Amino acid sequence: MRLGDGISVLKNIGEKRKVLLNKLNIFTVKDLLEYYPRDYEDRSKITNIRDIIIDETNIIKAKLVSSPETMKVSGLWITKIKLEDETGSIVAVWYNQPYMKNNFKKGQTYIFVGKVVFKYEQIQLMPYDYEIARDGEESTTTGRIIPKYQLMSGLTAKLLRNMVYEAISGISEEVGEPLPPALIEKYGLCGKMEAVKNIHFPSDNDAFYKARKRLVFEELFGMQMLLLQTRSFVKSKKDGVKFFDFDVSALMCMIPFKLTDGQQNAVKEIIEDLGSTSAMNRMLQGDVGSGKTVVAAIACYICIINGYQAAIMAPTEVLAKQHFEYFTSIFEPLGIMTAQLLGSMGARSKREALEKIASGEAKMVVGTHAVIQENVEFYNLALAITDEQHRFGVRQRKILTEKGNSAHMLVMTATPIPRSLALILYGDLDISTIEEKPPNRQSIDTFAVTGKYRNRIFDFVKKEIEKGNQAYFICPAIEGAENSDLKSVIQYEREVKEYLTGIQIAILHGKMKQADKDQVMAEFKSGRIAVLISTTVIEVGVNVPNATVMVIEDAQRFGLSQLHQLRGRVGRGISKSYCILITDSRSKITKERMDAITSTQSGFTLSRLDLTIRGPGDFFGVRQHGLPEMKIANLYRDMDILKLVQEAVSAMNMEEMREAARVLDVKKPEGTVTL
Ligand code: ADP
Ligand code: MG
Repeated sequence: MRLGDGISVLKNIGEKRKVLLNKLNIFTVKDLLEYYPRDYEDRSKITNIRDIIIDETNIIKAKLVSSPETMKVSGLWITKIKLEDETGSIVAVWYNQPYMKNNFKKGQTYIFVGKVVFKYEQIQLMPYDYEIARDGEESTTTGRIIPKYQLMSGLTAKLLRNMVYEAISGISEEVGEPLPPALIEKYGLCGKMEAVKNIHFPSDNDAFYKARKRLVFEELFGMQMLLLQTRSFVKSKKDGVKFFDFDVSALMCMIPFKLTDGQQNAVKEIIEDLGSTSAMNRMLQGDVGSGKTVVAAIACYICIINGYQAAIMAPTEVLAKQHFEYFTSIFEPLGIMTAQLLGSMGARSKREALEKIASGEAKMVVGTHAVIQENVEFYNLALAITDEQHRFGVRQRKILTEKGNSAHMLVMTATPIPRSLALILYGDLDISTIEEKPPNRQSIDTFAVTGKYRNRIFDFVKKEIEKGNQAYFICPAIEGAENSDLKSVIQYEREVKEYLTGIQIAILHGKMKQADKDQVMAEFKSGRIAVLISTTVIEVGVNVPNATVMVIEDAQRFGLSQLHQLRGRVGRGISKSYCILITDSRSKITKERMDAITSTQSGFTLSRLDLTIRGPGDFFGVRQHGLPEMKIANLYRDMDILKLVQEAVSAMNMEEMREAARVLDVKKPEGTVTL
């Protein structure tokens, strides 16, 4: 059997199962082997009946001493058998599985896996797995630590276990060693085949940890190779344009408030970079509403008074427009022209903007992805800023910087990431952090409630609007889909309109025409619209200080960082603000998220929690930063291994890296993130 073979080479895999496996993205034997377990269950130890532990899972090896009996008691099928080993006897019971009766033979010895409970004045074993005991034979059901995979209906745990087991035994000759031997030795990693075996069927805990470490190392190493490839294996700092004039007093007259200490500090660090000979490569991280835009504006202003162009790229048109308005409002009085570039612009206005950018007439350029299109030529771009960088891919950021000859780079984010992750994403990156928010900001009271409270929330919103404030309602869907209970913007509008009579309500979502979106946003900003029902298109950056209530429907659908971003749309003015999360989900992960967001206002704390709460299989956090999906590594929890990988890579020369990338078969990234 070869790794590249289709999964039909395995026993018992017909067309139907193949289709199901394909749905899990399993097409080849290799895919199957990379379908890592979500969890494990230790079934290696058999417990004597005398020693069983109540309310726990026990593995029992026992003989059937009676024939199975099935009876119906008040509508419930009960199947019972009596079991015995040398130390005692116990009854095994199945509820509503009458067919179980036919699976057992008196006199035969079986191994049962099940919870032992005390029920109806009797100790009962409730088996959820079993097999005939065959001494001396290897089994995938008992006698070892067994893997638990994410399943889907039609694919049982046993079937997947057996498939993986068969694949492992079948391909052992075929698996090569993709990691450089020197690294295996230096970091004491186990071999690939050993790792594959032990990640699925670990011989013991130690074997599992070793296997996992090795596979995580390999995956992170591959990611590192891939990122280096996007950066054309350039590691060292570039030369940058050195600026001399840092007199920002004229601009400061346009800014109606005093900078916070954090903002001042960030400006100071940026000025140091801009006044040195190497290009700035800096991340500015600061919580939602901490005032990153004005810091960006100061950096741009410095660039412009030194005779160069500056550009800022935002992930959505709504945000790009807002930036355009802001930059125009402070730069125009100072005689600086700002040009705007958006995907939705008409051919004529786009051409005009492109001309102004190419001639250098427009010193400031604000836009979306449109800014990095091939036809955009700058006169002399020297500062490239990416706002809400996590919405962009690694590649897009790089293109913008390359538009200028050795341009300085500043990326801004409200989702802080651990330093070592920042390093792999941005190379030699410096970080400025704005810890505090501007003064006079009040905390945003946050509540998580069930849908029962909806009418009371509507009443509350009504009162806020009567006071002259505004509100957002967020729904996860645009239109209601069949067999989905998710709230959708379009249906919700009706519901809200019925309740909030006489109030100006509008909707906003990604399927609307750009001109309509702009109209709605403008009217909401001006206050003509009091309630905005929207999808997460307003998630990043939107600034309407008069909005005081954020209601999020189906809050379980959003990650913590996302909820925090949404919450950050309110609390931007001086009035008390509220965020109300509505969810009927009772899952553990939802509860953890709701507890987290209602108990802290700090985006830094939340993004840390977000990375730990997210279970494996939910890779939003990874995609959010424009990285490839991880199959086994967790970028937050595997920080230690990530450090080792970074150390390993920094010790390699270009040739070794190229060779390693070739052996690992690193695929070029798409580098884009869906918006
Ligand atoms: P973010 O960091 O989320 O991008 P913004 O730059 O949009 O935040 O700033 C949020 C709001 O705070 C804006 O209305 C801005 O004018 C205001 N602001 C920024 N800095 C200060 C400050 N030092 N004092 C008072 N208000 C400020
Ligand atoms: Mg912002």
